[in-house]
Amino acid sequence: MTKSNGGPHSFNPHYVPSEFLSRVSNFSIIESTLREGEQFANAFFDTAKKIEIAKALDDFGVEYLELTSPAASEQSRLDCIAIANLGLKAKILTHTRCHMDDARIAVETGVDGLDVVIGTSSLLREFSHGKDMDYIAKQATEVINFIKSKGLEVRFSTEDSFRSDLVDLLSIYKTVDKLGVNRVGIADTVGCATPNQVFELVRTLRGVVSCDIECHFHNDTGCAIANAHAALEAGATHIDTSVLGIGERNGITPLGGLVARMYATDREYVMGKYKLHKLRDVENLIADAVEVQVPFNNYVTGYCAFTHKAGIHAKAILNNPSTYEILKPEDFGMTRYVSIGHRLTGWNAVKNRVQQLGLTLTDEEVKKVTAEIKALADIRPRSIDAVDQLLREFHAEIHGESTPGSPQAKRTSETNEADESAEAATNGEANKKAKVDETVTA
Ligand SMILES: [Zn+2]
Repeated sequence: MTKSNGGPHSFNPHYVPSEFLSRVSNFSIIESTLREGEQFANAFFDTAKKIEIAKALDDFGVEYLELTSPAASEQSRLDCIAIANLGLKAKILTHTRCHMDDARIAVETGVDGLDVVIGTSSLLREFSHGKDMDYIAKQATEVINFIKSKGLEVRFSTEDSFRSDLVDLLSIYKTVDKLGVNRVGIADTVGCATPNQVFELVRTLRGVVSCDIECHFHNDTGCAIANAHAALEAGATHIDTSVLGIGERNGITPLGGLVARMYATDREYVMGKYKLHKLRDVENLIADAVEVQVPFNNYVTGYCAFTHKAGIHAKAILNNPSTYEILKPEDFGMTRYVSIGHRLTGWNAVKNRVQQLGLTLTDEEVKKVTAEIKALADIRPRSIDAVDQLLREFHAEIHGESTPGSPQAKRTSETNEADESAEAATNGEANKKAKVDETVTA
């Protein structure tokens, strides 16, 4: 059972982990932007950029950083040494082939551990390295013993695990577990796995090895986050991510998406170990470095992630945000935005904006102006500035129309003065709010 069950912050009271082995509230992130991410089509990080990214991810709170193999190029080796010597809180890993040539170079860089990988699917064995399973086991044993003799962490992963023979897989994992690896790794290298398949394989493996289990999911068919969650439910301990999911082809489990998913499962746990308000900065850093835009529908930081539009949603959100929000924007340093300049708007949302602007209108008046907004927005959507202008003009018109001297006029006039001072007092706040809205929707 996780501590999220039935607790005050439980967002999904019906969620019951299906296994006592579940690690949804006790997992580590292996952040691979500087390895898998370097395999993204647009990626080229110079040393200074790699160091900036490493520091930002360390500050965010990820437990591990995985770097490109020092055997890849001379500069990769030098960068590995530079990052391993930064003195970061995160442990530094490098990802190498399960080969003595690579291992010998990697252990000299100052990293905390090696993530070694070898292909075990029949396709890779036939068309990539041409080795049989006995040969793979022998090679793995030599490499693992060597890394351990240097006092470093070692993970042994198969490649294309979901298209490998299950008996072969379990046999090699059992062998390396006995050798004392820190983790075994499952990799959905081609993005073919479904959450059910992941759950079954991890649960089976959990019964076979005593070490930790790391999982790596490609996103070719859109399951990378769901697969990571399923893996944790089945007892996996470590998940590989990259910022914005960048990697080979269309990439892997995105850091932000995984964090959003796990926050919804156990908010306190996730908020306790990651600086969620830094997520947007980390993503912008990577987006700039690889020259892409953060997608409009990105988890948490997409420009519409906290924008509420339909009138019925807006009304409920204004009464109680949790009605239509599983994530609290303020926990991520983000701002909720209720969009009102469109034909689907409702008078409750408009009333809220009227109050933000420091204007005073009765509910009947708000309904009337809402009808005006809808009529205009039937022609084309209106910006927040245009709607604000309309509300101010409507307000002035209503208050200016009264007959002087009548009791009604006196009341109105008093209200007007009160309005003016209220407006003066809240104008700065309203402007600030409008600015934030623009920023969020930009
Ligand atoms: Zn990968």
